[in-house]
Amino acid sequence: MKKLQMVDLKSQYDKIKDTVNTSIQEVLDTTTYINGPLVHEFQKNLENYLGVKHVIPCANGTDALQIAMMGLGLKPDDEVITADFTFAATVEVIALLQLTPVLVDVEMDTMNISVEAIKKAITPKTKAIVPVHLFGRPANMDAIMQIAAEHNLFVIEDNAQAIGADYVSENGSKTKVGAIGHVGATSFFPSKNLGCYGDGGAIFTNDDDLAHTIRGIVNHGMYERYHHDVVGVNSRLDSIQAAVLNAKLPFLNDYNKARRQAATKYNAAFSDHGNIVTPNFDENENNHVFHQYCPRIINADRDGLLTHLQSKGIPCAIYYPIPLHAQKAYLDSRYKEEQFPVTNQLVQEVMALPMHTELEDDQIAFITDAVLEFLNK
Ligand SMILES: *Cc1c(COP(=O)(O)O)cnc(C)c1O
Repeated sequence: MKKLQMVDLKSQYDKIKDTVNTSIQEVLDTTTYINGPLVHEFQKNLENYLGVKHVIPCANGTDALQIAMMGLGLKPDDEVITADFTFAATVEVIALLQLTPVLVDVEMDTMNISVEAIKKAITPKTKAIVPVHLFGRPANMDAIMQIAAEHNLFVIEDNAQAIGADYVSENGSKTKVGAIGHVGATSFFPSKNLGCYGDGGAIFTNDDDLAHTIRGIVNHGMYERYHHDVVGVNSRLDSIQAAVLNAKLPFLNDYNKARRQAATKYNAAFSDHGNIVTPNFDENENNHVFHQYCPRIINADRDGLLTHLQSKGIPCAIYYPIPLHAQKAYLDSRYKEEQFPVTNQLVQEVMALPMHTELEDDQIAFITDAVLEFLNK
């Protein structure tokens, strides 16, 4: 059996080595390290893939979120609602821009932001909602877009974990996540579903004016060379990273399919087990792309299981061990524990097993046997 890894980037690279190397070599040969032609080419290819009018590449996913919020013209004290159960980058940029983060609970079955909790959190100061498509599963965008329209709010999709997933709307139409809200942000961190070989990110929008504003913000607030109209930042996708992404984008659907197949196998091994709640999903729709595979371990020793798996050489992790409302940086007397029953429970129960594009059947069997061995003893 091949060595188990949380994410196996080496095996993935070995299969596409020639394509990636040729693409990187092109940058080296032309020395167009910044804003080279491959950055533009990747931008166009991603626009086509997502079916979105504008992709604006930038330096990383955290910048993408921050720049999206700057582009919308959000001002200090504006309230921005987001999920309590997510990676900290989402709330970090809200706080950095001196906006007011409003953390709300998530739903137990999807682990995504709770529509009911959003409704309760809206005040006259609310300006935006940031749904996170956590672990690769799209949030309930129909309901979120409807609430946003009713209250005149912006929707900023944090799509760092779900690139390539289809959102299947109640009316049956399909849209790539990230292209549904007013603006979307993604990350190309190496372990993400579309990862480069360093840092990278992008912002998506169908709004021409917003796209124009954002193109200036990422480039020091310049719309005309050496004319700085707004306070911007320097946030670029390197040409070498664009070369990697351009070579990998044609494989994104296959990569997501491989993740879904691995999830199907995990789910089959764990089905009907009283201590494991598996992430359910529709195998016929591309509506969950499993950035992480995170079942819940209930009425059992989750932390003991983690130690057991690690002792057998199986990497595993807890995403996320502490709710954001309980993190030192984001403590706020506005929050009451009763507002976060689901997040507080999830942090005790979730566990991430190895999930990547190269998982082999014998590896999955070894992992699931080890999980069942511990829970059945
Ligand atoms: C990875 C991630 C980010 C940040 O992306 P970086 O490229 O690491 O800055 C933001 N939000 C979520 C949900 C993420 O998983």
